[in-house]
Formats: sequence, structure tokens, C-alpha cells
Amino acid sequence: MLQPESSTDYDVLIVGGGSAGLCSGIWLARCGINFKILERRDGPMQHGQADGVQCRTVEVFESFGIEGPLLREAYHVLELAFWAHSDGIGLDEPDAAAAARVDGGDGGVVSKKAGEQKTEGIAKTHYAPDTEPGISHMPHVILNQARVNSIMTEEMTRTAGRDMIEYGVEVLDVSVDQEQAEDPGAYCVSVTAKMDGATKHLRAKYVIGCDGAHSIVRKSLGFQMIGDSHDAVWGVMDVYPRTNFPDIRKKALINSEAGNLIIIPREGDYLARFYIELPNYAGAAADITLADLHEKVWRIFRPYEMDIADTTWWSVYVIGQRRADHFTAAHRVFLTGDACHTHSPKAGQGMNVSLQDGYNLGWKLGAVLRGRAAPGLLATYVSERQKVAAELIEFDRYFTRLFSTAYRTEHGITPEHFREQIVRSGRYISGQALKYDESAIVCLGGARDSAKRLEVGMRFPSAQVVRVCDAKAMQLVRAIPSDSSWHIVVFAGDIRDVEASARLDQVSHELSSILREFVPKGTEADSILHVVLVLSGRRTEIEMQHIPEVFTPMTGRLKLKCLLNVFSDDQSYNSGHGHAYESYGIEPKVGALVVIRPDQYVSKVCGLGEVGQLGSFFAGFMKRAADQYI
Ligand SMILES: Cc1cc2nc3c(=O)[nH]c(=O)nc-3n(C[C@H](O)[C@H](O)[C@H](O)COP(=O)(O)OP(=O)(O)OC[C@H]3O[C@@H](n4cnc5c(N)ncnc54)[C@H](O)[C@@H]3O)c2cc1C
Repeated sequence: MLQPESSTDYDVLIVGGGSAGLCSGIWLARCGINFKILERRDGPMQHGQADGVQCRTVEVFESFGIEGPLLREAYHVLELAFWAHSDGIGLDEPDAAAAARVDGGDGGVVSKKAGEQKTEGIAKTHYAPDTEPGISHMPHVILNQARVNSIMTEEMTRTAGRDMIEYGVEVLDVSVDQEQAEDPGAYCVSVTAKMDGATKHLRAKYVIGCDGAHSIVRKSLGFQMIGDSHDAVWGVMDVYPRTNFPDIRKKALINSEAGNLIIIPREGDYLARFYIELPNYAGAAADITLADLHEKVWRIFRPYEMDIADTTWWSVYVIGQRRADHFTAAHRVFLTGDACHTHSPKAGQGMNVSLQDGYNLGWKLGAVLRGRAAPGLLATYVSERQKVAAELIEFDRYFTRLFSTAYRTEHGITPEHFREQIVRSGRYISGQALKYDESAIVCLGGARDSAKRLEVGMRFPSAQVVRVCDAKAMQLVRAIPSDSSWHIVVFAGDIRDVEASARLDQVSHELSSILREFVPKGTEADSILHVVLVLSGRRTEIEMQHIPEVFTPMTGRLKLKCLLNVFSDDQSYNSGHGHAYESYGIEPKVGALVVIRPDQYVSKVCGLGEVGQLGSFFAGFMKRAADQYI
């Protein structure tokens, strides 16, 4: 499907090969779309900006099957250490007994011992788990953005079978022919770019603006960034510290009289990143020198020694809390990432939210361009991610205030309160609090309480199950990878029970008719609607020959029976019991059906007696088999 290199027409042109652009690119490569990434840099990013990879982003990597190098190479963040000036904001417990208290609520510990002398400078106040235990089966990790991007680039290249990024190309202008935009087949977006010293004109059906905070795509369309005009100045450096500070290998939040600093331990055993806030900086950010940052760091860490043995990278950057007034032009050009939202790096959201913009958009463009979904599906990118951007800016404002010494003093925020707020924010920061509103692909109808602990519009949480055919214990999300298909997961209970078995037969019959409605003849059903069965009860008593054919279809060139989609919520040999039904709030005697989007968000939950409704649900955005053209 990919067009020759010489062509100037593309289905999709992605402007900018950063986190957002690459994530969209993986989807488009998987969908076989004719696309290209135009990147101004001469080659791959060498040294990264962002570094925090939140649990949800690790889950996204897992859904693409590329979490291996990320987990192997990254620093895993398990604990947060809180430090503050010892007598600046009431951190010192005046009463010795209180000072000796161990705060067992979530494992946090007050560091000072009763009777210990007050020391001028910073002191440890608490420890807390970095992320709420059980929030994800994946950890929060730290890896240089350059490496994170290279993992995505490798996957995109592998899937597409060739390089999809053209380096050294600077996009100068993007415009949409509004009249042509009504015609789905029209190459209605014009892109002007400087490449090889010449100005070239390209055309595309769709353009994704992933070109960062100074986005030329956004400017070409006349869109504005709206919001706070106050720009915070941040110094960031990757250093090898020679220090006696005890928490140098932990993520630590330090509020000292000399300023705020965040330590992010880096991959390897000694490298650390310091984020240093430079509040109310009066001069130009460009005037700040590395020596200024070293001096500031030295003062923040007092009374501990802090000698910077080597600085491998540093930068000063200015950031405002803003978002674009529009995210799309005619649903043909879409803005993603920093091009449509900017904020402070305190909560480590920049790379994550940007990458997830690309994750939200890529599969939708793939579905529309492959003729599987109506173009209306693309409107959900705007409604879903505009809301995310608004929430992000709001959260960042709140988080920034929380870090401000002046604000905390004014509002009587104690270190305990500060710690509590940070811990409470953990769910949001980890990317697990996101909930998409009702739309054509987020359906609140049906018997949602058949899976009481699943939230429609939120990401499908994983639980361990055991694959029936080979006794392998595995995370259920492994069975629903991001391969662009929709997933229908049937929780049918214990089919040794005659009633449950008859109910499964009925469900299978109805599902087969839905597959016939939406899967063109000659196409593998699971490339469009992928059906998964999770049973309860003893795995060893399940007879595969009694499983209805819709769950064990004949697939591939040789038409072999696929046994890989049938699981049991049962004890495994080596990894215990996952209690999947319990964690999803599903009653085995009643069962449930869960529809999961290609990006792993729960789209619909219904009862097993409501399977017939799925036809009209899918018809709300998916084309029927006869109308699909690829
Ligand atoms: C100097 C700096 C330091 C940062 N440090 C941190 C940090 O420490 N922690 C953190 O969380 N976040 C940090 N950020 C923010 C974080 O890097 C971003 O939120 C994240 O990278 C956004 O991803 P993106 O894909 O939207 O944009 P980017 O990653 O910025 O990618 C945009 C890409 O577009 C390319 N491009 C731009 N204009 C054009 C054009 N006209 N034509 C072709 N290509 C173009 C750029 O070369 C770039 O590769 C930093 C940002 C900067 C600029």
C-alpha cells in the first residue's frame, strides 16, 4: 500500500518526529498507511529532554509489544522521598514525641529521632510509594527521551519495512482546502517544506502537527495558545554527583529555602537528573549559565555536600501553562503534544501526554483511511484529547501552587498535607485517572454493573489469567494487543454448569452474526473484531473441543485452529491466582461482555443477554462489511 518515494502525495504527513509523531507513526505503520514523518533535525535525537515514563505509557509500550527494552534499560521508580527546610515551613516537630512518630499510614516515616539536634538546611520528612500499589501491573520508569524515541522508531521501521522519517526537512507552511475537505479521498492538505536546500510542495489527506511548542503547523493555521502568560523558568541537568546526600538514588522532592529541586535518578547506577525551579527569574533564560545552576544546587542541598563531578547535559527552558484554542482544522489537520499543550515538568507529564495524544489519534486515522470507520470517528480525537489537555493544565496549576513556598505558607499547608496531596495526585500522574466522556466509542448504555469494577471510558486494567491451551499464566492485556482491532472479551462464567454453557452457545451465535455484519468476506475476523473468552472455574476441566468456534477460529494462510484466545480465571502453576472476575467485579453466575477499543480503553460493558445490541453500537462508527474498501 505504501507509495513510491518519489511521490509527493501521502495519506498522512506527520510534522515532527518526537514522542507524539512517533507514536502515531507506529499505528500508521501497523495499518499499512502511506505516510511520512518530516523532521527538522538532521538525525535521531541524541540527548533527551523528558525522561519520566509513567505506568500508563509503559502499558502503551506493552500493547505495542515493545516494553522489553524500556523495562530492561530504565530506572524503576518505587519510592518518593520528601525533603524540606528544617525550620522553614513548620517541618520541625516542636514536640520530641511527635518528632519520633512513625507515620505508618502508607509506609511514610518521619526521619528525625526524638531529641535530635536541629540542623540548618534540609531534612527528610517522609517516604511514600511512588505509585499507589496495585494501580498498574507496569511500573513507573525513567529513561532518556532519546532512547524512548529510538525504541518507537525501531518498531515503526520494523513494521513498515523501511525508514519512515525524513530528516533535515523543515516544514514552513500547512494549509487546508476547506472545500475539498468534504471529499474523503481528497489530498486537501498542502505542506510546504524546505528539503535539500529547495522548497518542495507536498500534499496529504491528513496532517498531524507534532512539531512541539513552537509549532509551525499551529501557526500556519492561525491557532493561538491560550492560558497563563506567566512563564516558569526551569534548569535541568544530568549530572554525576559526588555527595553524601542519602537519597540520591531515589526520586526526591526537595523544598529548601534556596529553592525547589526534584531528583530523578537515571538509568545506570550513578547518573541523576536535577530539575531546578528558578522562580521569579528576572533576566533572560538564555543568560543562565551552568555555573549558576551548580551554585543553586549547592545551596539547595545544604547541609549535605554536593559536588558535581560531571554534567553530561543541561538546559534551561521556559514553559507556560497553555493550550491551543483549536486542535483541528476541518478534521484534516490535527495538533498533538506540545503543539497544543504546554506546562511545567513537575509532574513529568510532557512526553507521556504527548505520546498518548499520538496513541489516541493513530488508530483512528488508520481505521478511517482503511475504510473501516467513518471520518466522524476523528472528532473523538478532538473531544477526548482537548479534555485531557484542559485537565492537564488545571492539574499543573494546582501542582505548581503546591510546590510554591509562598503559597504553602499563605495557605498553612503542612509538610504532611503536602505529602498527602502528592500521593493523592499519584493516580493522575501515573496516567490511570483518565476517563473519556460518552461518545460513539464510549457507550454508557447497557448493564454496566455486570462488571462493577470496570469504568467505561477508562483504560482496561489488567489481571492475570491462565491460557487454557498451554497453561500459561499471563496478563489479560497481553491478549488484546494494539494491532488496530477492537476486542470483545466475554466473561462466560463456569461452563461446567449447564445453564452457563447454554448461555455461552447463545452468545457465540449472536457474536458470529455480528462478525458477519462487520468483517468483509476473506478478511480474518480478528483483524477487525477480536473475540476473547475468559471462563471461571477449573482450567483442567475445560475441554477445548466444547468451546464455540467463534472463539477458536480457523486463521492464517493454512487455516489452522487458533486456541490462543481462551483463558480461565484459575490458579496457575507458578504465579498464583489472578482473581480476574473479582478484580473486574464480575459475578461468574451472571457473566459480562466488555468491548475494548484498539487503544485499550473500555468502550462498553453489557450483560450476556445484551449481545444483540452490539450491532447497533458498532454501526455508530464502524462501516458494515459491504461498505469497507480495504
Ligand atoms: C529544551 C526542552 C527541555 C525539556 N525538558 C523536559 C523535561 O525535563 N521533562 C519533561 O517532562 N518535559 C521536558 N520537556 C518537554 C517534553 O520534551 C515535551 O513535552 C515532549 O517532548 C513533547 O513531545 P512532542 O512530540 O509533542 O514534541 P517534541 O518532542 O518537542 O518533538 C517535536 C519535533 O518536531 C520537530 N520540529 C519542530 N518544528 C519542525 C518543523 N517546522 N518542521 C519539521 N520538524 C519540526 C522537532 O525537531 C522535534 O523533533 C522539554 C522540552 C524542551 C524543548
